[in-house]
Amino acid sequence: MIAGALCLDFINTLDDRYSGEPKELLNRYLDLACFGEDAGILSGAQADHLFQRSMQSPAPAKRALEAAVRMREAMYAVFWALVQKKPVPKAQLMILNSYAQEAARHMSLVQTNGDFEWEFDELGSEFDAPLWPIARSAADLLASHQLQFVRACASKTCEWLFLDESKNHRRRWCDMTKCGNRAKVSRFYKRKKDASG
Ligand SMILES: [Zn+2]
Repeated sequence: MIAGALCLDFINTLDDRYSGEPKELLNRYLDLACFGEDAGILSGAQADHLFQRSMQSPAPAKRALEAAVRMREAMYAVFWALVQKKPVPKAQLMILNSYAQEAARHMSLVQTNGDFEWEFDELGSEFDAPLWPIARSAADLLASHQLQFVRACASKTCEWLFLDESKNHRRRWCDMTKCGNRAKVSRFYKRKKDASG
């Protein structure tokens, strides 16, 4: 979870998109439940509960997983177009909208200590529930001033999306240890190779 926004971390669950051999990290419903727990949208108990239910009812769990992947790819298409400063594909934005609307149906205003906030329905209640906060995160980011700081990692095989929250907004790597160091090492080798002629 390094992207600085839940929806971007979710997009990155198709790893190494540009390597020619992308790695799908959402292969089973369990993976979605684990992502939910790692991202802090599900408690351990909620993730366990959903996983147990997915074992008992594999067909609806599989449909929820497929819906999650469909949502992710729509999010990817929209954010990637924005990062590339290209027109956002309308069909993908429509798909994303349908998920955002579904998420909104599962939110209520609640008052706590005098303040109001949006609260989701019980997130352990439905196989689709982990999708709601992710869809909401994408909607919030798209409608925010932060949108201009969404970047793609400078590594050409990685291109993970992240929100550049650094002070001068010049962050280039999804993660310094994952890609930044790799790039540094390859520059180092290139220099050595060039020097040795
Ligand atoms: Zn990267």
